[in-house]
Amino acid sequence: MQCKQLFRLVKEWHTHVKQETMAPGRMMQFVDSHVKECPVCREDSLLPREIEQIREHVMPDLKSKGSRANEDLFTPDIFPADEPDNDPPEDAAADGLF
Ligand SMILES: [Zn+2]
Repeated sequence: MQCKQLFRLVKEWHTHVKQETMAPGRMMQFVDSHVKECPVCREDSLLPREIEQIREHVMPDLKSKGSRANEDLFTPDIFPADEPDNDPPEDAAADGLF
């Protein structure tokens, strides 16, 4: 990570996520939108990989969600079904075309 600003922001956001005052999905949205706007981050070819590592760190249960689907059928009220904050922005790829 070459951008000091992003490094500082990620640290700050991660603190909020640990304190559960910010959703991990929201944090990753902020990271994505900073990278889109920031010339330093856009030039950093290793950054996408680091962002993936951050994403896996703050959202560790994302991958195991599929295997939990069967359990959810039996306990639908315990786990919230919809978490829109966890969806990556769909228009990210389209923006690069223009
Ligand atoms: Zn940056």
